[in-house]
Amino acid sequence: MSGSQPASIKVHKSSGNTMEIAWKDGHQSTYSFAYLRDACPCALCNDEREKSRRQPDQPSSPDAGPLPMFKPVLRPTEVAPVGNYAIRFTWNDGHQHGIYSWSYLREWCPCEECRAARHAGDGLQYDIEHHPPRKQ
Ligand SMILES: [Zn+2]
Ligand SMILES: [Zn+2]
Repeated sequence: MSGSQPASIKVHKSSGNTMEIAWKDGHQSTYSFAYLRDACPCALCNDEREKSRRQPDQPSSPDAGPLPMFKPVLRPTEVAPVGNYAIRFTWNDGHQHGIYSWSYLREWCPCEECRAARHAGDGLQYDIEHHPPRKQ
């Protein structure tokens, strides 16, 4: 899919808290580091999300109170390309096994348009569950 190839990637590693991707099909995605960390595709994080029934685009702890003062701001300490298909983040919380492929990043693009498209899918599923086809 040509849409899931980036034309350019900017990681605002020290001066900001986002990664911006301009895709070859003209789409633009801006991911906050917190979003990326919560969407980490590694087996460990996948497992955690399955247990808590959380989607990669949902924050890990929506009910948590204000962050404790001593908690450092989440940042990548290292960002490295993986072949020509993915990018790997090493986080300052010690986590380091997340390899984000371009197709995964595009699938979980946090923009309004893509979020709405993902939710349209949820709606469809909901309708099917509530209106099962009649038995012949
Ligand atoms: Zn992970
Ligand atoms: Zn998008």
